[in-house]
Amino acid sequence: HLTLGIETSCDETSFAVVAGGRRILANVVLSQTGEHRRYGGVVPELASRRHVTNAVPLLQAALAEAGIGLGDLDLIAVTRGPGLVGALLVGVSLAKALAWALDKPLVGVHHLAGHVYANFLAPPGGDTAPEPRYPAVTLVVSGGHTDLFHLEAGGGLRWLGGTRDDAAGEAFDKVARELGLGYPGGPVIDRLAAQGDPGAFAFPRAMLDDDTLDFSFSGLKTAVLYELERRGWRDPDRRAELEAHLPDLAASFQQAVVDVLVAKTLRAARQVGARQIYLAGGVAANRRLRHDLGVAAAAAGLDLAYPPPVLCTDNGAMIAAAGFAAWQRGRRDGLDLDVDPDPPLDEWF
Ligand code: ATP
Ligand code: MG
Ligand code: FE
Repeated sequence: HLTLGIETSCDETSFAVVAGGRRILANVVLSQTGEHRRYGGVVPELASRRHVTNAVPLLQAALAEAGIGLGDLDLIAVTRGPGLVGALLVGVSLAKALAWALDKPLVGVHHLAGHVYANFLAPPGGDTAPEPRYPAVTLVVSGGHTDLFHLEAGGGLRWLGGTRDDAAGEAFDKVARELGLGYPGGPVIDRLAAQGDPGAFAFPRAMLDDDTLDFSFSGLKTAVLYELERRGWRDPDRRAELEAHLPDLAASFQQAVVDVLVAKTLRAARQVGARQIYLAGGVAANRRLRHDLGVAAAAAGLDLAYPPPVLCTDNGAMIAAAGFAAWQRGRRDGLDLDVDPDPPLDEWF
């Protein structure tokens, strides 16, 4: 059974062919990060227009890589949201045209369900997919999202909590910009932090002691700014002094983010009686997060798993995986499927 997965929710255009919901035959991803970099973030109209020009050639490339024709597809799965409306429209319109022309079923997928299901794909080039373990808790951390989900027996998802303001990746990006480190900020901060002291600066751990599973990162970003201001390090003449402290600033900021993510994820796991913790989204690449969450999970007798880096960031294969699971459970969308910038997480996505 071959699923075509289509992802155009933000600044990656991606098409994938996935067999049986688990084995990747092709996963072609074109990231526009380089084009948006000079604006310091994703420019929605530019993203939509790049999807329009790149979509069909990338689809052709994915089919060629999988060694199949359009007629071999059994299911069309496409991200319906959350995301940028104009960007989503490109993928959804193309998906509907394909479903109609090929007379194949169509499934609209919640983008975050895709991130969760990236954990159940065989790693690229491999044949054996990890068996999902239930009940589990999944932390999805990316540039636009910080959410905890309960992965219930059978594969359904229930939202447990999320950020009330900035996403974790957004905090990395904004702090990196203030430190003059460019965009995207996560990888640079990760690298710098490895040489710094996480205890050098005392940054706040917001909402750590309340009993919700929600997050807040905008105060942390403000605290970093305030520290720079207080020390006079926003003065361009004192750039050298700032630079000397960059590793400590990066390590202290990163640790504040990681501490909250780890504590809330473990609390969620306790609440739902999880056996397993999954990590997903671009920030899942963060080495400190992987390390600290792994240690905390082990201490609680839980396993931690995360997808390989190419499956952590936006890609079509994860949409195919989630779409296939939803389709197996009977989900079908009509040709009147709409995009939704912030859709509810229905029982089957
Ligand atoms: P969405 O939020 O819609 O899923 P996105 O494109 O914003 O999509 P991803 O592509 O999943 O998000 O991830 C990008 C984010 O991950 C950026 O904010 C980036 O700074 C962050 N990131 C990438 N690598 C690391 C890292 N090693 N440490 C921390 N953050 C990282
Ligand atoms: Mg992206
Ligand atoms: Fe994403």
